Amino acid sequence: MKLYNQLTKKVENFKPQDPENVKIYTCGPTVYSFAHIGNLTSYVYWDLLVRTLKANGYKVNRVLNLTDVGHLTSDGDDGEDKLEKGAKREGKTVWEIADFYIDTFLKDFRSLNLEEPSKICRATDYIDQDIKLVNLLTEKGYTYETSDGIYFDTSKFEKYADFAGLNLEEQKAGARVAFNSEKQNNSDFAVWKFVREGEDHAMQWDYLGRPGYPGWHLECSTISATELGLPLDIHTGGIDHIPVHHTNEIAQSEAAFDVQMSRFWLHCNFITIDGEKISKSLGNIYTLSDLEEKGFTPLDFKLWVLQGHYQGTRNFNFEDLTAAKNRLLKWRNRAAKSYQISSKDSISVQILEKVSNNLNSPEAFALIDNTDLSFADWKFIDDLFGLNLIPDLENLPKNLDSLIEERERARSEKNFAVADRIRDELAESNLTILDTENGPIWQYLR
Ligand SMILES: [Zn+2]
Repeated sequence: MKLYNQLTKKVENFKPQDPENVKIYTCGPTVYSFAHIGNLTSYVYWDLLVRTLKANGYKVNRVLNLTDVGHLTSDGDDGEDKLEKGAKREGKTVWEIADFYIDTFLKDFRSLNLEEPSKICRATDYIDQDIKLVNLLTEKGYTYETSDGIYFDTSKFEKYADFAGLNLEEQKAGARVAFNSEKQNNSDFAVWKFVREGEDHAMQWDYLGRPGYPGWHLECSTISATELGLPLDIHTGGIDHIPVHHTNEIAQSEAAFDVQMSRFWLHCNFITIDGEKISKSLGNIYTLSDLEEKGFTPLDFKLWVLQGHYQGTRNFNFEDLTAAKNRLLKWRNRAAKSYQISSKDSISVQILEKVSNNLNSPEAFALIDNTDLSFADWKFIDDLFGLNLIPDLENLPKNLDSLIEERERARSEKNFAVADRIRDELAESNLTILDTENGPIWQYLR
Protein backbone atom coordinates (compact mmCIF):
# COMPACT_ATOMS: atom_id res chain seq x y z
CA MET A 1 0.00 0.00 0.00
CA LYS A 2 1.07 3.56 -0.66
CA LEU A 3 0.14 6.53 1.51
CA TYR A 4 1.08 10.21 1.59
CA ASN A 5 3.09 10.88 4.74
CA GLN A 6 3.16 14.41 6.17
CA LEU A 7 6.43 13.54 7.96
CA THR A 8 8.33 13.14 4.70
CA LYS A 9 5.89 15.15 2.53
CA LYS A 10 5.69 12.38 -0.05
CA VAL A 11 3.81 9.23 -1.03
CA GLU A 12 5.58 6.27 0.55
CA ASN A 13 5.19 2.51 0.71
CA PHE A 14 3.27 1.65 3.84
CA LYS A 15 4.26 -1.42 5.83
CA PRO A 16 2.99 -1.73 9.40
CA GLN A 17 5.22 -2.76 12.29
CA ASP A 18 2.94 -5.74 12.89
CA PRO A 19 0.43 -6.79 10.18
CA GLU A 20 -1.74 -8.33 12.92
CA ASN A 21 -1.90 -5.06 14.85
CA VAL A 22 -1.86 -1.94 12.67
CA LYS A 23 -2.01 0.87 15.19
CA ILE A 24 -4.09 3.83 14.06
CA TYR A 25 -5.03 6.89 16.06
CA THR A 26 -7.69 9.33 14.83
CA CYS A 27 -8.28 12.74 16.38
CA GLY A 28 -11.96 12.78 17.17
CA PRO A 29 -14.55 15.54 17.60
CA THR A 30 -14.99 18.08 20.36
CA VAL A 31 -18.39 17.07 21.62
CA TYR A 32 -20.15 20.40 22.25
CA SER A 33 -22.47 20.66 19.23
CA PHE A 34 -23.83 18.59 16.35
CA ALA A 35 -21.23 17.39 13.85
CA HIS A 36 -21.72 19.09 10.47
CA ILE A 37 -21.00 17.46 7.15
CA GLY A 38 -17.55 19.09 7.02
CA ASN A 39 -16.63 17.39 10.30
CA LEU A 40 -18.01 14.06 9.12
CA THR A 41 -16.10 14.07 5.83
CA SER A 42 -12.84 13.15 7.57
CA TYR A 43 -14.34 10.10 9.29
CA VAL A 44 -15.57 8.83 5.91
CA TYR A 45 -12.04 9.02 4.53
CA TRP A 46 -10.54 7.27 7.57
CA ASP A 47 -13.16 4.58 7.18
CA LEU A 48 -11.82 4.06 3.66
CA LEU A 49 -8.30 3.85 5.11
CA VAL A 50 -9.34 1.16 7.60
CA ARG A 51 -11.30 -0.82 5.01
CA THR A 52 -8.44 -0.63 2.50
CA LEU A 53 -5.97 -1.91 5.12
CA LYS A 54 -8.34 -4.78 5.92
CA ALA A 55 -8.80 -5.61 2.22
CA ASN A 56 -5.00 -5.83 2.04
CA GLY A 57 -5.07 -8.47 4.77
CA TYR A 58 -4.07 -6.35 7.77
CA LYS A 59 -5.70 -6.39 11.20
CA VAL A 60 -6.47 -2.87 12.34
CA ASN A 61 -6.37 -1.64 15.92
CA ARG A 62 -7.81 1.86 15.87
CA VAL A 63 -8.44 4.34 18.63
CA LEU A 64 -10.64 7.43 18.34
CA ASN A 65 -10.77 10.08 21.04
CA LEU A 66 -13.65 12.30 22.04
CA THR A 67 -12.64 15.71 23.34
CA ASP A 68 -14.87 16.55 26.28
CA VAL A 69 -12.57 19.03 28.04
CA GLY A 70 -9.87 21.62 27.37
CA HIS A 71 -10.54 22.58 23.74
CA LEU A 72 -10.75 26.37 23.87
CA THR A 73 -12.67 28.47 21.36
CA SER A 74 -9.43 29.95 19.99
CA ASP A 75 -7.99 26.44 19.26
CA GLY A 76 -5.04 27.81 21.26
CA ASP A 77 -4.61 28.83 24.87
CA ASP A 78 -7.20 31.60 25.02
CA GLY A 79 -10.94 31.77 25.05
CA GLU A 80 -13.67 29.73 26.60
CA ASP A 81 -13.70 25.94 26.87
CA LYS A 82 -16.01 24.77 24.08
CA LEU A 83 -17.81 22.39 26.44
CA GLU A 84 -18.51 25.24 28.92
CA LYS A 85 -19.80 27.32 26.02
CA GLY A 86 -22.16 24.52 24.97
CA ALA A 87 -23.39 24.11 28.54
CA LYS A 88 -24.24 27.82 28.84
CA ARG A 89 -25.94 27.85 25.44
CA GLU A 90 -28.24 24.97 26.36
CA GLY A 91 -28.62 25.48 30.11
CA LYS A 92 -27.15 22.04 30.85
CA THR A 93 -24.10 20.80 32.73
CA VAL A 94 -20.88 20.22 30.80
CA TRP A 95 -21.24 16.50 31.50
CA GLU A 96 -24.77 16.46 30.04
CA ILE A 97 -23.51 18.32 26.98
CA ALA A 98 -20.69 15.81 26.49
CA ASP A 99 -23.00 12.79 26.87
CA PHE A 100 -25.60 14.21 24.52
CA TYR A 101 -23.20 15.13 21.71
CA ILE A 102 -21.24 11.90 22.05
CA ASP A 103 -24.52 10.06 21.43
CA THR A 104 -25.41 12.15 18.40
CA PHE A 105 -21.89 11.78 16.98
CA LEU A 106 -21.95 8.00 17.34
CA LYS A 107 -25.39 7.90 15.75
CA ASP A 108 -24.02 9.80 12.73
CA PHE A 109 -21.01 7.50 12.69
CA ARG A 110 -23.22 4.43 12.49
CA SER A 111 -25.64 5.87 9.96
CA LEU A 112 -22.66 6.45 7.63
CA ASN A 113 -21.87 2.76 8.02
CA LEU A 114 -18.38 3.55 9.33
CA GLU A 115 -16.44 0.69 10.89
CA GLU A 116 -16.41 1.01 14.68
CA PRO A 117 -12.98 1.85 16.08
CA SER A 118 -11.49 -0.81 18.38
CA LYS A 119 -11.78 1.69 21.19
CA ILE A 120 -13.39 5.10 21.65
CA CYS A 121 -11.85 7.14 24.48
CA ARG A 122 -13.12 10.18 26.35
CA ALA A 123 -10.46 12.74 27.25
CA THR A 124 -11.75 13.08 30.82
CA ASP A 125 -11.04 9.38 31.49
CA TYR A 126 -7.29 10.03 31.09
CA ILE A 127 -6.64 12.86 33.55
CA ASP A 128 -4.27 10.75 35.72
CA GLN A 129 -2.20 9.91 32.64
CA ASP A 130 -2.29 13.59 31.59
CA ILE A 131 -0.85 14.64 34.95
CA LYS A 132 1.86 11.97 34.70
CA LEU A 133 2.80 13.26 31.26
CA VAL A 134 3.02 16.87 32.49
CA ASN A 135 5.19 15.69 35.39
CA LEU A 136 7.44 13.79 33.01
CA LEU A 137 7.83 16.82 30.73
CA THR A 138 8.60 19.01 33.75
CA GLU A 139 11.19 16.54 35.06
CA LYS A 140 12.87 16.63 31.67
CA GLY A 141 12.95 20.42 31.68
CA TYR A 142 10.46 21.01 28.85
CA THR A 143 7.92 23.09 30.76
CA TYR A 144 7.59 26.36 32.64
CA GLU A 145 4.80 27.84 34.72
CA THR A 146 2.92 31.08 34.06
CA SER A 147 0.04 32.62 35.96
CA ASP A 148 -2.51 30.70 33.86
CA GLY A 149 -0.89 27.31 33.36
CA ILE A 150 2.05 25.04 32.59
CA TYR A 151 3.53 25.66 29.17
CA PHE A 152 5.67 23.56 26.84
CA ASP A 153 8.83 25.37 25.82
CA THR A 154 8.93 24.72 22.08
CA SER A 155 12.46 26.14 21.73
CA LYS A 156 13.68 23.06 23.64
CA PHE A 157 12.23 20.65 21.06
CA GLU A 158 14.63 21.03 18.20
CA LYS A 159 12.53 19.78 15.30
CA TYR A 160 9.38 21.64 16.41
CA ALA A 161 9.06 23.53 13.10
CA ASP A 162 9.71 20.56 10.81
CA PHE A 163 6.37 18.75 10.69
CA ALA A 164 4.38 21.72 9.44
CA GLY A 165 7.30 23.55 7.83
CA LEU A 166 6.74 26.47 10.22
CA ASN A 167 8.75 29.66 10.02
CA LEU A 168 8.97 30.46 13.71
CA GLU A 169 10.84 33.76 13.17
CA GLU A 170 8.13 35.06 10.89
CA GLN A 171 5.45 33.85 13.31
CA LYS A 172 7.16 35.74 16.12
CA ALA A 173 7.33 38.99 14.15
CA GLY A 174 3.73 38.73 12.97
CA ALA A 175 2.37 38.06 16.44
CA ARG A 176 4.36 40.67 18.38
CA VAL A 177 1.29 42.74 19.20
CA ALA A 178 -0.92 39.91 20.41
CA PHE A 179 1.94 38.11 22.16
CA ASN A 180 1.03 36.66 25.54
CA SER A 181 3.77 38.35 27.57
CA GLU A 182 4.24 35.38 29.87
CA LYS A 183 4.97 32.94 27.06
CA GLN A 184 8.65 32.51 26.29
CA ASN A 185 8.02 31.75 22.61
CA ASN A 186 4.95 32.51 20.59
CA SER A 187 4.60 28.84 19.62
CA ASP A 188 4.68 27.60 23.25
CA PHE A 189 1.43 25.95 24.29
CA ALA A 190 -0.36 25.02 27.50
CA VAL A 191 -0.13 21.40 28.64
CA TRP A 192 -2.12 22.29 31.74
CA LYS A 193 -4.40 25.26 32.41
CA PHE A 194 -5.19 26.65 35.85
CA VAL A 195 -8.78 27.62 36.56
CA ARG A 196 -8.50 31.36 37.09
CA GLU A 197 -10.00 33.22 40.02
CA GLY A 198 -13.69 33.80 39.22
CA GLU A 199 -13.54 31.61 36.07
CA ASP A 200 -16.54 29.37 35.62
CA HIS A 201 -15.01 26.02 34.66
CA ALA A 202 -17.01 23.06 35.95
CA MET A 203 -14.55 20.39 34.79
CA GLN A 204 -11.54 20.70 37.03
CA TRP A 205 -8.97 18.50 38.71
CA ASP A 206 -6.46 19.19 41.43
CA TYR A 207 -2.86 19.49 40.34
CA LEU A 208 -0.07 21.33 42.17
CA GLY A 209 -2.62 22.26 44.81
CA ARG A 210 -4.79 24.24 42.38
CA PRO A 211 -7.83 23.42 40.27
CA GLY A 212 -7.03 23.02 36.60
CA TYR A 213 -7.61 21.03 33.44
CA PRO A 214 -5.47 19.57 30.64
CA GLY A 215 -4.44 21.53 27.55
CA TRP A 216 -6.28 20.40 24.43
CA HIS A 217 -3.35 18.62 22.74
CA LEU A 218 -2.44 16.56 25.80
CA GLU A 219 -5.21 13.94 25.56
CA CYS A 220 -4.05 12.67 22.16
CA SER A 221 -0.54 12.12 23.50
CA THR A 222 -1.75 10.24 26.58
CA ILE A 223 -4.54 8.23 24.93
CA SER A 224 -2.39 7.09 22.00
CA ALA A 225 0.50 6.05 24.27
CA THR A 226 -1.80 4.34 26.79
CA GLU A 227 -4.10 2.51 24.41
CA LEU A 228 -1.86 1.72 21.44
CA GLY A 229 1.76 2.25 22.47
CA LEU A 230 4.21 4.32 20.44
CA PRO A 231 5.19 4.51 17.70
CA LEU A 232 1.78 4.45 16.07
CA ASP A 233 1.62 3.17 12.52
CA ILE A 234 -0.73 5.91 11.29
CA HIS A 235 -2.08 9.05 12.91
CA THR A 236 -4.95 10.78 11.10
CA GLY A 237 -6.67 14.15 11.28
CA GLY A 238 -7.66 17.21 9.26
CA ILE A 239 -5.09 19.48 7.57
CA ASP A 240 -6.00 22.21 10.04
CA HIS A 241 -4.36 20.00 12.69
CA ILE A 242 -0.93 20.14 11.03
CA PRO A 243 0.52 23.48 12.21
CA VAL A 244 -0.68 23.42 15.82
CA HIS A 245 -2.46 20.36 17.20
CA HIS A 246 -0.36 17.63 15.60
CA THR A 247 2.85 19.64 15.82
CA ASN A 248 2.21 19.97 19.56
CA GLU A 249 1.23 16.31 19.98
CA ILE A 250 4.55 15.30 18.42
CA ALA A 251 6.52 17.71 20.62
CA GLN A 252 4.89 16.46 23.84
CA SER A 253 4.99 12.76 23.05
CA GLU A 254 8.47 12.60 21.59
CA ALA A 255 9.97 14.85 24.30
CA ALA A 256 8.35 12.79 27.06
CA PHE A 257 8.77 9.25 25.75
CA ASP A 258 11.91 9.53 23.56
CA VAL A 259 10.20 7.58 20.78
CA GLN A 260 8.74 8.54 17.41
CA MET A 261 5.04 9.30 17.89
CA SER A 262 3.79 7.95 14.57
CA ARG A 263 5.41 6.53 11.44
CA PHE A 264 2.76 7.95 9.08
CA TRP A 265 0.63 11.08 9.41
CA LEU A 266 -2.40 11.43 7.10
CA HIS A 267 -4.53 14.55 6.75
CA CYS A 268 -7.69 15.14 4.80
CA ASN A 269 -8.62 18.43 3.25
CA PHE A 270 -11.54 20.79 3.91
CA ILE A 271 -14.84 20.98 2.14
CA THR A 272 -16.52 24.23 1.18
CA ILE A 273 -20.27 24.65 0.70
CA ASP A 274 -21.40 26.38 -2.49
CA GLY A 275 -17.88 27.76 -2.74
CA GLU A 276 -17.89 29.23 0.78
CA LYS A 277 -16.18 28.25 3.98
CA ILE A 278 -18.50 26.48 6.43
CA SER A 279 -19.54 29.06 9.00
CA LYS A 280 -22.39 29.93 11.25
CA SER A 281 -22.60 33.48 9.90
CA LEU A 282 -23.17 32.21 6.35
CA GLY A 283 -25.84 29.81 7.60
CA ASN A 284 -24.37 26.97 5.56
CA ILE A 285 -23.85 24.46 8.35
CA TYR A 286 -25.59 21.21 7.42
CA THR A 287 -25.92 18.13 9.60
CA LEU A 288 -26.85 14.67 8.36
CA SER A 289 -30.40 15.28 9.62
CA ASP A 290 -30.60 18.42 7.47
CA LEU A 291 -29.65 16.33 4.43
CA GLU A 292 -32.18 13.67 5.39
CA GLU A 293 -34.93 16.31 5.61
CA LYS A 294 -34.07 17.23 2.02
CA GLY A 295 -34.46 13.59 0.93
CA PHE A 296 -30.84 12.40 1.01
CA THR A 297 -29.59 9.41 2.98
CA PRO A 298 -26.31 9.40 4.94
CA LEU A 299 -24.96 6.92 2.37
CA ASP A 300 -25.74 9.34 -0.49
CA PHE A 301 -23.50 11.77 1.35
CA LYS A 302 -20.86 9.11 1.98
CA LEU A 303 -20.69 8.31 -1.73
CA TRP A 304 -20.38 12.04 -2.49
CA VAL A 305 -17.40 12.25 -0.12
CA LEU A 306 -15.66 9.23 -1.64
CA GLN A 307 -16.03 10.64 -5.15
CA GLY A 308 -13.20 13.01 -4.27
CA HIS A 309 -9.69 12.28 -3.09
CA TYR A 310 -9.05 12.87 0.61
CA GLN A 311 -6.23 15.32 -0.06
CA GLY A 312 -8.15 17.48 -2.52
CA THR A 313 -10.39 20.43 -1.65
CA ARG A 314 -14.03 19.63 -2.18
CA ASN A 315 -17.00 21.83 -2.83
CA PHE A 316 -20.37 20.59 -1.65
CA ASN A 317 -23.62 21.55 -3.33
CA PHE A 318 -26.99 19.87 -3.65
CA GLU A 319 -26.68 19.30 -7.40
CA ASP A 320 -23.61 17.15 -6.85
CA LEU A 321 -25.25 15.40 -3.92
CA THR A 322 -28.20 14.56 -6.19
CA ALA A 323 -25.76 13.14 -8.74
CA ALA A 324 -24.17 11.02 -6.00
CA LYS A 325 -27.60 9.81 -4.92
CA ASN A 326 -28.35 8.75 -8.49
CA ARG A 327 -24.99 7.03 -8.79
CA LEU A 328 -25.65 5.09 -5.59
CA LEU A 329 -29.03 3.86 -6.92
CA LYS A 330 -27.40 2.97 -10.23
CA TRP A 331 -24.71 0.96 -8.44
CA ARG A 332 -27.31 -0.80 -6.27
CA ASN A 333 -29.21 -1.78 -9.37
CA ARG A 334 -26.09 -2.94 -11.16
CA ALA A 335 -25.31 -5.08 -8.09
CA ALA A 336 -28.89 -6.41 -8.14
CA LYS A 337 -28.62 -7.15 -11.85
CA SER A 338 -25.30 -8.94 -11.41
CA TYR A 339 -26.93 -11.05 -8.70
CA GLN A 340 -29.63 -12.12 -11.15
CA ILE A 341 -27.52 -12.39 -14.29
CA SER A 342 -24.03 -13.76 -13.79
CA SER A 343 -21.40 -11.87 -15.72
CA LYS A 344 -17.69 -11.30 -16.25
CA ASP A 345 -14.55 -12.29 -14.38
CA SER A 346 -13.74 -10.48 -11.18
CA ILE A 347 -11.74 -7.23 -11.32
CA SER A 348 -11.60 -6.80 -7.52
CA VAL A 349 -7.81 -6.85 -7.59
CA GLN A 350 -7.73 -3.84 -9.90
CA ILE A 351 -10.15 -1.93 -7.69
CA LEU A 352 -8.05 -2.69 -4.62
CA GLU A 353 -4.94 -1.51 -6.48
CA LYS A 354 -6.59 1.87 -7.07
CA VAL A 355 -7.49 2.51 -3.44
CA SER A 356 -4.22 1.05 -2.18
CA ASN A 357 -2.49 3.84 -4.09
CA ASN A 358 -2.90 6.60 -1.49
CA LEU A 359 -6.66 5.92 -1.14
CA ASN A 360 -7.50 6.93 -4.71
CA SER A 361 -11.25 6.38 -4.48
CA PRO A 362 -12.06 8.63 -7.51
CA GLU A 363 -10.01 6.37 -9.80
CA ALA A 364 -11.62 3.28 -8.29
CA PHE A 365 -15.04 4.83 -8.92
CA ALA A 366 -14.19 5.52 -12.57
CA LEU A 367 -13.16 1.89 -12.98
CA ILE A 368 -16.43 0.74 -11.37
CA ASP A 369 -18.48 3.00 -13.65
CA ASN A 370 -16.76 1.77 -16.79
CA THR A 371 -16.61 -1.98 -16.18
CA ASP A 372 -19.15 -4.77 -16.29
CA LEU A 373 -18.87 -6.25 -12.78
CA SER A 374 -19.68 -9.60 -11.28
CA PHE A 375 -21.71 -10.06 -8.11
CA ALA A 376 -18.47 -11.01 -6.31
CA ASP A 377 -17.03 -7.64 -7.36
CA TRP A 378 -20.04 -5.82 -5.94
CA LYS A 379 -19.64 -7.67 -2.67
CA PHE A 380 -15.99 -6.65 -2.63
CA ILE A 381 -16.87 -3.02 -3.44
CA ASP A 382 -19.45 -3.00 -0.69
CA ASP A 383 -16.92 -4.23 1.87
CA LEU A 384 -14.41 -1.68 0.65
CA PHE A 385 -16.67 1.39 0.74
CA GLY A 386 -19.49 0.37 3.08
CA LEU A 387 -22.26 1.73 0.85
CA ASN A 388 -24.94 -0.92 1.37
CA LEU A 389 -25.03 -1.80 -2.31
CA ILE A 390 -25.79 -5.48 -2.06
CA PRO A 391 -29.43 -6.48 -2.52
CA ASP A 392 -31.08 -7.11 0.79
CA LEU A 393 -32.00 -10.70 -0.07
CA GLU A 394 -33.69 -11.24 3.29
CA ASN A 395 -36.22 -8.53 2.64
CA LEU A 396 -37.13 -9.29 -0.94
CA PRO A 397 -40.74 -10.41 -1.34
CA LYS A 398 -40.86 -14.21 -0.99
CA ASN A 399 -42.98 -14.53 -4.12
CA LEU A 400 -40.79 -12.23 -6.24
CA ASP A 401 -39.94 -14.87 -8.86
CA SER A 402 -43.53 -15.98 -9.27
CA LEU A 403 -44.68 -12.34 -9.53
CA ILE A 404 -42.18 -11.75 -12.33
CA GLU A 405 -43.41 -14.90 -14.14
CA GLU A 406 -47.03 -13.92 -13.65
CA ARG A 407 -46.29 -10.46 -15.08
CA GLU A 408 -44.63 -12.06 -18.13
CA ARG A 409 -47.63 -14.27 -18.66
CA ALA A 410 -50.08 -11.38 -18.24
CA ARG A 411 -48.17 -9.27 -20.72
CA SER A 412 -48.04 -12.02 -23.34
CA GLU A 413 -51.82 -12.44 -22.91
CA LYS A 414 -52.17 -8.63 -23.13
CA ASN A 415 -53.80 -8.67 -19.69
CA PHE A 416 -52.55 -5.22 -18.76
CA ALA A 417 -54.75 -4.91 -15.67
CA VAL A 418 -52.90 -7.83 -14.06
CA ALA A 419 -49.49 -6.55 -15.20
CA ASP A 420 -50.27 -3.14 -13.69
CA ARG A 421 -51.42 -4.70 -10.41
CA ILE A 422 -48.14 -6.58 -10.13
CA ARG A 423 -46.20 -3.40 -10.92
CA ASP A 424 -48.00 -1.56 -8.11
CA GLU A 425 -47.46 -4.43 -5.69
CA LEU A 426 -43.71 -4.47 -6.39
CA ALA A 427 -43.50 -0.68 -6.07
CA GLU A 428 -44.63 -1.05 -2.47
CA SER A 429 -41.46 -3.08 -1.88
CA ASN A 430 -39.38 -0.38 -3.64
CA LEU A 431 -38.98 -2.66 -6.66
CA THR A 432 -39.68 -2.47 -10.35
CA ILE A 433 -39.18 -4.80 -13.31
CA LEU A 434 -36.72 -4.01 -16.05
CA ASP A 435 -36.85 -5.87 -19.34
CA THR A 436 -33.36 -6.77 -20.52
CA GLU A 437 -31.96 -8.83 -23.37
CA ASN A 438 -31.62 -11.63 -20.80
CA GLY A 439 -35.25 -11.36 -19.79
CA PRO A 440 -36.96 -9.41 -17.00
CA ILE A 441 -34.99 -8.56 -13.83
CA TRP A 442 -35.96 -6.66 -10.70
CA GLN A 443 -34.43 -3.32 -9.80
CA TYR A 444 -34.74 -0.86 -6.93
CA LEU A 445 -36.98 2.15 -7.49
CA ARG A 446 -35.15 4.39 -5.00
ZN1 LIG B 1 -5.44 14.91 18.41
